[in-house]
Amino acid sequence: MTNILIFGHKNPDTDTICSSIVYNNLKRIQGMDTEAVRLGEINDETRYALEHFNVFEPRLVEEVAEGQQVILVDHNEFQQSVNGIEKAVIREVIDHHRIANFETAAPLYYRAEPLGCTATILKKIYEEQSVHIDKQMAGLMLSAIISDSLLFKSPTCTQQDIEAATDLANIAEIDVNVYGLEMLKAGTNLGNKSEDDLIDLDAKSFPMGGANIRIAQVNVVDPEELLARREALEESMRTANAVNGYDTFVFVITNILTSVSTVLVVGEHLDKVASAFNASYTDGLLTLPGVVSRKKQVVPPLTVVFEG
Ligand code: MN
Ligand code: MN
Repeated sequence: MTNILIFGHKNPDTDTICSSIVYNNLKRIQGMDTEAVRLGEINDETRYALEHFNVFEPRLVEEVAEGQQVILVDHNEFQQSVNGIEKAVIREVIDHHRIANFETAAPLYYRAEPLGCTATILKKIYEEQSVHIDKQMAGLMLSAIISDSLLFKSPTCTQQDIEAATDLANIAEIDVNVYGLEMLKAGTNLGNKSEDDLIDLDAKSFPMGGANIRIAQVNVVDPEELLARREALEESMRTANAVNGYDTFVFVITNILTSVSTVLVVGEHLDKVASAFNASYTDGLLTLPGVVSRKKQVVPPLTVVFEG
């Protein structure tokens, strides 16, 4: 049995999967008995990256036993982690998120940096520990940075992320703009997904001033394709509100080519949501130019309005 499991968060994205693989590679080079695993299904964007660089999907793990040694990447909050995390032994955390709902019994190595991507931190660790970055690992780290930064357009993206990506693109011999757009586009193939899937692909719940707000986001290159299914999407959102007790469902459709988000809102507090963005509804839709980051541009203004 493998000694130490390395994984990212549930609903895995490209950074979570690639960072698990890349950190596992470093640990194994250093002689540690580690294995990269995943906590959920691989999405189409991540699959594109893994296939492009000929890397196998990590094994699926849904629960860990008491005493299992683990290394967390790209997350720390227990509700985003593996089932059983409370009883696991957390050896390390490498992350770029806020720290919340996190506690350990024993000392650990914890590295958090306010950068745009976990993979940017991992590249620094490779360099600090003088471990060679091969083409495959460079490609995976580059893919993670492209994904988390939406090809450097997200306000979460820092100068360090851009510089790391430039180095990695050279090592991987990749044209970052050409490859990046192809990879992001691979994740926008939504035609084969049901409305229920679409509103749950990348969704998180946020308690705000006594209200329970659900915020989902999808990336697209053609918002009209999704908006043609608007009635069915709103029906799914209404049902989700009723079943799960959400007060408001906010569904953000982000055009990765233009950096414009189109927002569907279902439930209570419609006016509050519009005022958070200083916007008004046109045909029941909010149009938000330049808004691409839920973490930095959607959650904070909503929190202000709901808690103000
Ligand atoms: Mn992530
Ligand atoms: Mn990340």
